[in-house]
Amino acid sequence: MAEGEKSLDGLELSKEWLEAADSRAELFRYLKEQVPQIFCLKKESSPQEEEELMQSRLFLPLECFLFGEDPQEGLEKLKQGSTSSQLCGRVFKEGETVYSCRDCAIDPTCVLCMDCFQDSVHKGHRYKMHASSGGGFCDCGDIEAWKIGPCCSKHDPGAATAMVTDECGLEPEIYGRAERLFRILLHYVTDFLVWEENLELSAELQPRTKDNAYYCVLYNDEHHSYDHVIYTLQRSVNCDQAEAQTHTALIDKEGRRAVKRGTLRSCQQARDLIRSNSEHISLQPLRVEILHAAVMAHQTFVLRLGPWFQKVISYSVGFRQAFCQVALETNADGDQPCLISRLMLNDGRMYKGARKIVHELVFCSMLMETEFKKLFAIEFTKYYKQLQKDFIIDDHERSISITALSVQIFTVPTLARQLIEEGNVIKVIVGTVMELLREHLDNNNRFFFLGYNSDKFSRIQIIFHDLRYILISKPSVWTEELRREFLEGFKVFLGLLKCMQGMEEVKRQFGQHIAVEPEWEAGFSLQIQLRHILAMFQDWCSSDDEILLLAFEECHKVLMQCNNQSFHREATNYYMLKHILHVCPYKVSQEPVSIHLPISRLLAGLYVLLCRTGAVERLDDPERFDHTLLAEHPLRCVVLAAQVSAEMWRRNGLSLVSQVYYYQDVKCRDEMYDKDILMLQIAASKMDPNHFLMLVLLRFELFDYFKGSMNKDQDELIQWNRLTEEMLYLLIVIIGERYVPGISHVTKEDVTMREVIHLLCIEPMAHSSLVKGLPENESHETGLETVITKVATFKKPGVSGHGLYGVKKERLVDFNPFFYHYSRSQHSKAEESQKKRRTHEGHDKALCPPVPPAFCPAFSSIVRLLSCDIIIHILRHTLQRAAEDRATHWTEAMIQRALHLIGQALLEEKTQLEESTMEEVAFDFSLKARRIGSEHGKSVFLLLSKIKAVPSLEAQKDMVKWVLQMFEIVKCLREKSSPTASMSVDTTKPEESVQDKEKAERKRKAEAAKLHRQKIMAQMSTMQKNFIESNKMLYDNMPETGTQGGEPVVTTESCAMEHRELCVAIGPHRGSSPAEREVLTCILCQEEQEVAAQAPAMVLTACVQRSTVLTQCRGRIPTNRADGTGTSYPLFMPPELAVGTHTGSCGHVMHATCWQKYFEAVQNMTRNRLHAELIIDLENGEYLCPLCKSLCNTVVPLIPFERLMFNYENAEIIGQHLTLPRWIQIISARIKGLKSVAQDNDCNTESTSVDGDTGLCGEGQPDFRSILSYGVQEPRKFSDSIVEMLVVCATTVHRVGLQTAPNEQCPRVPLMAWNTCAFTIQAIENILQEGGKSLFGSLQNRQLAGLKAIVQFSAAQRIKSSQAVIQRHFNDMLGVLLPVIGRKNTPSLPEVDFFHLLVGLVLSIPALYQEEAVDLQPSAVSSAYNHLHILHLVTMAQMLQVLLSSTDFPAVAGEETEESRAAAELYTTVSQHTERLIPDVSGISVAERVKRGIEPFLRCAALFFNCLTGVQPPEELFSTAVTSQGQMEALCSYLALPSNVFQLFQEHREAVTPLLKRWCGSPAVTKALKGKNPTVRYPRRRNRLIDLPEDYSALLNQASHFQCPNSTDDDRKHPTLCLFCGAMLCSQSSCCLSQLDGEDVGACTAHAATCGAGVGMFLRIRECEIVLMASRTRGSTYPAPYLDDYGETDPHLGRGNPLHICPERYRKLNQLWQQHCILEEIARSLEVVNVMFAFEWQML
Ligand SMILES: [Zn+2]
Ligand SMILES: [Zn+2]
Ligand SMILES: [Zn+2]
Ligand SMILES: [Zn+2]
Ligand SMILES: [Zn+2]
Ligand SMILES: [Zn+2]
Ligand SMILES: [Zn+2]
Repeated sequence: MAEGEKSLDGLELSKEWLEAADSRAELFRYLKEQVPQIFCLKKESSPQEEEELMQSRLFLPLECFLFGEDPQEGLEKLKQGSTSSQLCGRVFKEGETVYSCRDCAIDPTCVLCMDCFQDSVHKGHRYKMHASSGGGFCDCGDIEAWKIGPCCSKHDPGAATAMVTDECGLEPEIYGRAERLFRILLHYVTDFLVWEENLELSAELQPRTKDNAYYCVLYNDEHHSYDHVIYTLQRSVNCDQAEAQTHTALIDKEGRRAVKRGTLRSCQQARDLIRSNSEHISLQPLRVEILHAAVMAHQTFVLRLGPWFQKVISYSVGFRQAFCQVALETNADGDQPCLISRLMLNDGRMYKGARKIVHELVFCSMLMETEFKKLFAIEFTKYYKQLQKDFIIDDHERSISITALSVQIFTVPTLARQLIEEGNVIKVIVGTVMELLREHLDNNNRFFFLGYNSDKFSRIQIIFHDLRYILISKPSVWTEELRREFLEGFKVFLGLLKCMQGMEEVKRQFGQHIAVEPEWEAGFSLQIQLRHILAMFQDWCSSDDEILLLAFEECHKVLMQCNNQSFHREATNYYMLKHILHVCPYKVSQEPVSIHLPISRLLAGLYVLLCRTGAVERLDDPERFDHTLLAEHPLRCVVLAAQVSAEMWRRNGLSLVSQVYYYQDVKCRDEMYDKDILMLQIAASKMDPNHFLMLVLLRFELFDYFKGSMNKDQDELIQWNRLTEEMLYLLIVIIGERYVPGISHVTKEDVTMREVIHLLCIEPMAHSSLVKGLPENESHETGLETVITKVATFKKPGVSGHGLYGVKKERLVDFNPFFYHYSRSQHSKAEESQKKRRTHEGHDKALCPPVPPAFCPAFSSIVRLLSCDIIIHILRHTLQRAAEDRATHWTEAMIQRALHLIGQALLEEKTQLEESTMEEVAFDFSLKARRIGSEHGKSVFLLLSKIKAVPSLEAQKDMVKWVLQMFEIVKCLREKSSPTASMSVDTTKPEESVQDKEKAERKRKAEAAKLHRQKIMAQMSTMQKNFIESNKMLYDNMPETGTQGGEPVVTTESCAMEHRELCVAIGPHRGSSPAEREVLTCILCQEEQEVAAQAPAMVLTACVQRSTVLTQCRGRIPTNRADGTGTSYPLFMPPELAVGTHTGSCGHVMHATCWQKYFEAVQNMTRNRLHAELIIDLENGEYLCPLCKSLCNTVVPLIPFERLMFNYENAEIIGQHLTLPRWIQIISARIKGLKSVAQDNDCNTESTSVDGDTGLCGEGQPDFRSILSYGVQEPRKFSDSIVEMLVVCATTVHRVGLQTAPNEQCPRVPLMAWNTCAFTIQAIENILQEGGKSLFGSLQNRQLAGLKAIVQFSAAQRIKSSQAVIQRHFNDMLGVLLPVIGRKNTPSLPEVDFFHLLVGLVLSIPALYQEEAVDLQPSAVSSAYNHLHILHLVTMAQMLQVLLSSTDFPAVAGEETEESRAAAELYTTVSQHTERLIPDVSGISVAERVKRGIEPFLRCAALFFNCLTGVQPPEELFSTAVTSQGQMEALCSYLALPSNVFQLFQEHREAVTPLLKRWCGSPAVTKALKGKNPTVRYPRRRNRLIDLPEDYSALLNQASHFQCPNSTDDDRKHPTLCLFCGAMLCSQSSCCLSQLDGEDVGACTAHAATCGAGVGMFLRIRECEIVLMASRTRGSTYPAPYLDDYGETDPHLGRGNPLHICPERYRKLNQLWQQHCILEEIARSLEVVNVMFAFEWQML
């Protein structure tokens, strides 16, 4: 009832306010009472209490007022009648992933939130994803943002309800109340948000009694660091470290915080202290204010009102409109800005928390309503300049400035147009920039940025974004108004460019190097900002002829104003070959020159557009343009670049080099270098060609040189040569570069294709490198995708690396070695690779010029350059120098360029002749080239023939030949003047006879053959190297490959044939062990040595680690601390295989002594190396393999197979006596005997109760020594060093496996050796099965070598341990199989892993033969029987375990067989013993189930006995082609089991019957059968990395819904996915730190400890990156297995292309894990990276 009462109160209150004459006064009176009471009255208040009071006492009455009834009911009614918004409007948090569609978004700022994207059509388009910088909002539903698919399915209006959005759908009465309430409250909010310290509360809010309660409030700023603030607080307001930290964190987050409450005096004191303390540290004091408690209370309430408004507004469109109405209305007098403007204008002064409230309110109100958005945009534009000014002096980031809202309004096309028409927003924006940059103007009104403030400057630059936004969508229709206002804006923009034209001039430095590098970055960043804006302005102009003409005129006018005083001297006449050029003298190398010419370049751009649209015809009096003058500055700039490249400007330092670099770089060139070339082309098309060339020669300062003056100065000669190269290159470019729409008839696509072809001619490239090499447009698009398939073929990547594009062959005809966008190094690389390719394909090396597209008519006269007098002169002059061949007077590059030019000329002539009759062709290059100078034998043509013979021009010979051929072709065309004359090059070869041709052919063939030979030789030598290398490895790794002793392979083979039937590893028919000697080479000293038991030890590198690779209970690691409580491990491995101990090896062999020396050296060296401890854990004995750098932490001694004397006859005889029951008796007797001996020795008289086992024995009691009678022998002897290494290895295994202190005396040392042996075999069996590989013959050498060594090591381990301890272990283990013998806490059948048990029993049984006085071990025959009986027993137990854990029996149809009958019988027996098994299961099903269940066990057993005895396995196990039935039979035969395994129970019925009963009778079995304990199923589940979604965005989606389990704040989180188990973790975040061994660790580290026993593999989702972790301090990153369509990974989603999983790469990661190579991978990557700064992996 309390609720009802409250709302009743609320209703009454609201009625009072409503009925009062002055609602506002009435409401304020209430707030005056309530607000201070709820907030800030008490010193301490609980946030919860505050919240409750606020809801009931403040918000409830307000809502009652709004609805006029109970808010709940009102809301219900409202919901029925209204529609929700069609806009998504989700406001992005920082780091949230947002999507844009490259196909459909109007511009790249249009984005979708994750949810909308997933539900939109764009999911199938070319989308981009990136992390939001915060502050924007989802554009779903905005029809102006998308070309198609503006709405996701959720925000799709569907019905026609969208039409009603303009009507508020509210009843007028409610609307009226809403308006009234919002007006009062918004005023209230505004007043308190913009509050200033010294203000007094208004009369209405003035409390009756003013307490002396004040707050000292500290504000955030960017000058003081976190630590400064903490320091200051601790010293000023008496708080401890933790408190100060909390304050500081909140100040940073909210922007301010009350740090003290008290009397005015005490607050003033605190303020002064804070100020003085903070001033100490960084000159500026912290901002502190003192606010009265009541003011503070109202401010606190206002902050809460923000979210309340948002909530209420979202109820109904009507409320939203009412709010917008109130926010935008001006007061009656109109002298004051509207409320929202007041807030905007105070934005720069408000603290973070307050700003956030305002921005969010704007987002959810005005930006969601089309009409109000427009009104808001107009307000925003009105105050634009002021807002930007405030932002410039503000020290907050842009994302929390109101100016960041511009993107939301300026990018809307209709709004942009409206703002231009009504507010001339272009003028406003450019005007703002101009005003802010005014301080950088010099006397000539040009910018100079010396000593500029880079922070402020970068803030100013952001304003250019707004200009770009406005220009994003070009209008389709131009109104008169739009034209007028646009042109107005354009003029202002020209004003800005005018200040840049000619700015920051440079002057060549003579003599000494410049003292200070001049500032240049500011100018270029301005240029970079303007780049797209310039292009967009041109684009706008081109859409309307009238605008284009006016803009061109305007631009020309401004340029003429700039060029007024650019010459210092009078014009004079220059003469060359009877041509006269009248220009002013000027030398780039001596006078100032500027690289910034935006107006000239804009003019060039506009001119080409005029030509393209044809509007050039409408230009008044085109003759008035002085093209010499227009070209002057661009030419200077080009010359400057040439001179810098000729190293004439060396003394001007790096800044100039950088400027020239950027001038031609892809980031700037389209509005710099390219436009300069354009301007030169314009001039060349308009000027007399001779005059143009003379001007070029003059500005290159080569005029005199080409007039014939010669200087002896070597330096100058070199300079001239370089300049000549550059000048000829420029001519090639001016004549040949026509890929600009308007210069020739090409499309933008053609242009891009040509760029791509030329990039790919350098080398095959990845998609991302291509993107980097291409210019981006304003939407960050390069146009690459549309052309790439036309010009290139894609080569897919392998498991590493990335995909590559190679240029298509047929596109190579377009290759131009002098492509103008090549840098010098790109040019030579491309030239080299293309020449190589041509030779490879059997062509000559001539890289002839491509045939260019024809010029548009306006530019067609450029080709006259090629046949004018001056060019012939230039060419002759150049060629002559080479023909004279004086070393310093010419360069090959010069000739190369001259040849290219001649080629261009001849191609031009050929084209013209082919297209029209000879009479029409005025182009006469070939004639002039043959005629001019021929009288002295110095025509171009004759000189060419001469230089053919110059030896140093060998490389150009093919090119010269090609040029001469071209001359002949052109000659033929002219002479015959018929179209047939244009024959192919080969057939028209002049005077070169067939003989010549043949000779050439022969030579070419010989050349090719020589090359081929060289290639083969090179291949052979690498192959040889590889062969040696790999053989060495092979040799090192495979000790048993029997190439020793003269009879290799054959012996093994014949041996195998002989003992074909002896492919049995155990029992009386066991085969023999291989008898070869192994001789191995030490990788350290390279000396060979035989591996022998008595020889000094050889060791194998090894790495022991804990592993959960096989676990059946991921995430649950049984605690087995040193005391060994809580689990039976290590004596018994639980069937879940929760944690095992894996020992792997890279297979490299060393002498033990060599290793010890190496190890010590490494330890000493590593100690002194920086951060080496990150890679190597010295304390734990780690080192890197000296050969392959794998991480290792121990060595395994190599022990050869034991030589065997096996007497099959004896075996047969013994076998008749030693049946399983007999064997059990003998073993039991032996154990009993040994025990009593021990007890006698210990004088322990505790009664023994082992009589129970008598039930097992039929015949007479065997003696406790009778075991010995079946055969004993002396145990093996090992050399001391082998024994020492056994201890080293065993100690490591024990220490690592049990995570305990090293202790070689620990009784569990031998257990751990057996455990690691068993576990390593299981891990390897798992890899083989997973990889679909055969059990034998498919292991990597290193795995095989390691495995053998470990098995032999484990077998030998017992000789170092106390025999009594081992006997006890044997006894304990046997207890599982013979429950009677065992003690009480012996686990029952379902509780152990039988493979571990098998290994333990087999390896420990020899200890039973130990006699007090003599060391004995079982003879080969005894061992064979021991193995046989142990295996049979364990196999039966394992079968039963499978049966007991099975609930699902496959329904198999088929005939009853011997096997199924035996299975059924067993099943019945077991059923009787347990009385619970499911009835009605056919024998076939049981057989099937059990056989499948025990298969992994049998496979492991086969591996184990193979490594233990070396007996050759049957062939079937070397192949994957054999059926599973065949496999099973082969396994059984190898293991001496009946192929019908159920027969075991019948064969041993006598012994097993009592056992079966006991096995089934254990309480644990009953419990398991009742389903109480989760039992393991067999075959065990194979672990694999979790499935990942195909599409990466699905993962991002998953991550976006991720909730940190430990915090609720909206800070950015780093969701990280464990690939072992799929857990999503909150990494790198203080909220999820936890303690691990008393140390703070991040969520991932903590998780890895339990999930992967310290090893982890995580996917950091936002970063799209894998993190590998091992131990607390080590980790490394690894590329995520996701690729984009171009075969590239995208770390940190830098490119944002759609990503899809690459199954091969993911499989590789899976292998990395399964093969226990994560540790190794980390060590290797750290070794490579050689980290300088330690990354705190444990905090992940
Ligand atoms: Zn959305
Ligand atoms: Zn949506
Ligand atoms: Zn799309
Ligand atoms: Zn050695
Ligand atoms: Zn190695
Ligand atoms: Zn996990
Ligand atoms: Zn967290």
